[in-house]
Amino acid sequence: MPPPIEVGADKMNPFETALQHRLEQQKAAGRYRRRRSQRDAGVHTRINGRDMLTFCSNDYLGLATHPRVVKALCDGARRHGAGGGASHLVNGHQEIHDRLEMRLAQWTGRERALLFGSGYQANLGVISALMSRGGHVVHDRLNHASLLDGTLLSGARLHRFAHGDTSLAEQTLAGLAPESDRLLVSDGVFSMDGDCADVNALARLAERYDTPLMIDDAHGLGVLGQHGAGTLEAQNMPPDRVPILVGTLGKALGTQGAFVTGSHALIESLIQFARPFIYTTSLSPALASATLAALDLVQTEPERRAHLHRLIQRFRQELATLALPGITLMPSETPIQPLLVGSEQAAMALSESLYEDGILCTAIRPPTVPPGQSRLRVTLSAAHTEADLDRLLTALERCCRTVTS
Ligand code: PMP
Repeated sequence: MPPPIEVGADKMNPFETALQHRLEQQKAAGRYRRRRSQRDAGVHTRINGRDMLTFCSNDYLGLATHPRVVKALCDGARRHGAGGGASHLVNGHQEIHDRLEMRLAQWTGRERALLFGSGYQANLGVISALMSRGGHVVHDRLNHASLLDGTLLSGARLHRFAHGDTSLAEQTLAGLAPESDRLLVSDGVFSMDGDCADVNALARLAERYDTPLMIDDAHGLGVLGQHGAGTLEAQNMPPDRVPILVGTLGKALGTQGAFVTGSHALIESLIQFARPFIYTTSLSPALASATLAALDLVQTEPERRAHLHRLIQRFRQELATLALPGITLMPSETPIQPLLVGSEQAAMALSESLYEDGILCTAIRPPTVPPGQSRLRVTLSAAHTEADLDRLLTALERCCRTVTS
C-alpha cells in the first residue's frame, strides 16, 4: 500500500487547518478512534503479521466465514450479480430479495419483511417514515445511536427514560396529548451492556397508551430463543404484540444488511415513505443469497447456539471465581459480556495489555458509553473453542493484575 500523503502544516488551507485542529482536540481528549486492519473475519486472524484471537466481533455464530455462507455469496454473485445495480424501486429488486424477505418474515412470525442496506439505515427509515414534527418518540436511554438519529431525522420530539425503567417510560407516555403521534422504541438486547429489554413490560405499556412498539433486536436474533428468533422468542412474546421488529444481517447471520418485519400495511408504508429505503442501491443480491444460507444454518444447527451459551455460562462462572481487580462483570446472559473498567485510560490500558498477549478486545469509551463507564466489550462467538476461552481468561487474569498493580 502506498504511504498516505502527508501535507505539511504550512501548506494547509483554512479548511484543512480547521479539520486538523478538531482532530488534535479529539486526540487531546483521549478519544481519537483508530482502526486496525485484520486479515479476515475469523476469530483466529492476523493483525500486523501477528496471530490474534478476537473477542469483539458481532459475528456471534461464526457464520461470516462459514464455507456454506461464503459459497452461497460466490454462487449468488455469479447468478444474480455482485450488486443490485439500482434501488429496489427502480430495477434493483430481484427474486432472491423476495425469497429472503419471505424467509425472514416466516422466521420472525410476521406477514412481511423489507430489506435495508444496514441496520443504521433501517432504523433511520422506520422512524422517519412513521413519525414527523409534532410526534413523540419515547426511548430507553441506552438505545442504539441509529434509533436516536432516526428520531432526529423525523423531526419528532425525542424522550428518553432511564435504562429499563418502564415506570419512567409510563410517566412520559401518560404526559403526552392522547391524540399525538407516538412511538415507543427499545433495543431487544442492549448493544453495549448486553442485557435484554423486558419486552412484555414494554408491550403492556404500549397497549395501555395505544402506542406502537418498535424493537431493534440486532443482537438477539440468531442467538436467543429456541429457534434463534431472538429476544421476543426467548420471552414468549406473540409477534402481534410488537408491531415493528428490526433485525440486522451483519451480526449473528454473518453477512450485511438489515430487515424490518411486521404487517403488510407497515411494509407498504415503508416502501412508500422510508427515504433510506427509497433513495439507495438495493442490498447486493449476492448478500441476499449468502444470508439465505446463513438463515438455513441458524434454523437447522441449534448446536451453534447451544455451544455459544455454554461458553457464556463458563465465562461468567470463571470470571466470578477469579474476582479480578479493577473490573466488574456486568449482568448479561447474551454473547455481549462487558467488563466495566471505569476510566477511559484504564480501559485502554487493559485493552492494550491484552493486545500484547495476542487478544483483540477493543475498549468502548465515551461518547459511546457514559463517562466513567468505559469498558471492554467482550463478545463471545460459537466460533470460539473452550481452549480459546481458556486463553482469554488466562490473559485477563494476567493483564488485570498487571494494569491495576
Ligand atoms: N441496532 C443496534 C442495536 C446495533 O447495535 C447496531 C450496530 N451495532 C445497529 C442497529 C446498526 O446495524 P448495522 O451495523 O447493520 O448498520
